[in-house]
Amino acid sequence: MGVIHQSWKKDLIKSYEKKGYWEPLSLGNHLTEWSNQYGEKTALTEKNRSVNYKELNYFADRAASCLYKLGIKKGDRVILQLPNSIDFVVSSFALFRLGAIPIMCMMANREADIDNFCTTAKPTAYITCDSFFGFDYRKLALKMSDKHKSLKHIILNKEYDNCHNLNRFYESDEKINNFEPPHYTDTALLQLSGGTTGTSKLIPRTHTDHAFNFKSASKCCRLDQNSVYLAILPAAHNFTLACPGIFGILSSGGRVVMAETPGCEEAFALIEKEKVTMTSLVPPLANLWLQAGKSTENDLSSLEIIQVGGSRFEKATAEQIMPEFNCKLQQVYGMTEGFFSYTRLDDPDEVITGTQGRPLCFDDEIRIVDEKGKDMAPGKSGELIVRSPCTMFGYYGNDQQNIHSFSHEGYYYHSGDKVRITPRGNIIVEGRIKDQVIRGGENISCAEIEYHLCSHPEIDDASLVGLPDELLGEQSCAFIINSGLATDLISIRSYLKDRGLPAYKIPDQLIKIENWPLTNVGKIDKQKLISIAENKSR
Ligand code: AMP
Repeated sequence: MGVIHQSWKKDLIKSYEKKGYWEPLSLGNHLTEWSNQYGEKTALTEKNRSVNYKELNYFADRAASCLYKLGIKKGDRVILQLPNSIDFVVSSFALFRLGAIPIMCMMANREADIDNFCTTAKPTAYITCDSFFGFDYRKLALKMSDKHKSLKHIILNKEYDNCHNLNRFYESDEKINNFEPPHYTDTALLQLSGGTTGTSKLIPRTHTDHAFNFKSASKCCRLDQNSVYLAILPAAHNFTLACPGIFGILSSGGRVVMAETPGCEEAFALIEKEKVTMTSLVPPLANLWLQAGKSTENDLSSLEIIQVGGSRFEKATAEQIMPEFNCKLQQVYGMTEGFFSYTRLDDPDEVITGTQGRPLCFDDEIRIVDEKGKDMAPGKSGELIVRSPCTMFGYYGNDQQNIHSFSHEGYYYHSGDKVRITPRGNIIVEGRIKDQVIRGGENISCAEIEYHLCSHPEIDDASLVGLPDELLGEQSCAFIINSGLATDLISIRSYLKDRGLPAYKIPDQLIKIENWPLTNVGKIDKQKLISIAENKSR
């Protein structure tokens, strides 16, 4: 990899426009269309409040006018850090209308992340709430505006000195019509890369590629005006936002129900009350649902689709979803950088439970390559590289990283994921190319060992990490969650040996854990597991 040849980018853009994947419409204009089409229908529901499509459009307009009056203009970046709520959607569309660019932060982002985003993107405003689950976001925003001179405005969902009030924006009679609208190929939003190591990078998504993302996913999930989507994972994450998620539902005339927490209790109660038809989960949460689903008294019979994605979903667990919840499972694999594959609703069960599906678009070009970038033989595993109408052309303000993330010929994004493709074209994700323990010079795939551990009848879930070791370079440490009888390292080792694993692949250490440490979006945080193991051995 080296310098990226920009001519590839121009050609790709031209072809996506010509083939009609990229509609000439900004996200703000999409909302106008939805409002005209679905008017009085309820669009969003949260704890004590609902808004219909017309109201959503009206509030977004008024908020855009107020933001404009403050001086926020096209191209400005704005930190957006709000819980799953109506305010989150209104603020997003207000910014889209102006052509200002929200940085889609999760509530779990703290000072180090926000500071980094402020340094990289120099936002002019910070939209957040006063506090959420005991954390004071107003204090964080004030601290950031002291430190970063670009950050001039703090906008909260409550009345406070030195801050503007988002709710006042809705009520204002301010109506400014003369701001210059964004072009559909402009950057609409900056999303966060899902790295489990280091700080997130900023991913620019344009109005048109984002719309293509959620509209094609909506079609695949057959969404319509009767669809009711429960947003449980952070709304700011692309899975919840656009796969098809919140925006996909809005584009179909359905209704989004906002869950404040990811807990099963709140989710199950909302499913019953709001007659939810679809939701999306990460595997650790799907595991919790399976346990809680057995004893719940809530009526979950309205559920039609449970999507699971974001990290590897063990087949044995996937097989339990459809019988337990009496609905379709859909596996979703992808990355915020912009490629997604889905199992289809009418796929045979073994495809749904055993693969991560296939791309949605004929022009999603995926290749499986070796470490030198050479294409692998059909069926062999290697790194997935991709270019597609949804894939970004580079991280925001990070040219150094872009040189490593794209092939210099052809503009393919290097996912870092190890996958293979079945003869029928379905993707199977085997892990990260770097998710390996290198023990005494032997490479051990974490995913392989996790698979064998999960097949043990007493183990509910497993994760393997490498720990530094003077003699071996690295030794392997298996973390397990087990709800059954006692399991110890000796019995696990002999179980794995009986399954035919060679000695070097058998974990050196075993640590039982009750709950996984999770990343901001709910995936298992392997960096934290390594710290736990290191602290234990001190
Ligand atoms: P994010 O950008 O947060 O969506 O993270 C993207 C990464 O999550 C991918 O590159 C994969 O490593 C992983 N991932 C996403 N979906 C799946 C899946 N269904 N199975 C396995 N890994 C996944």
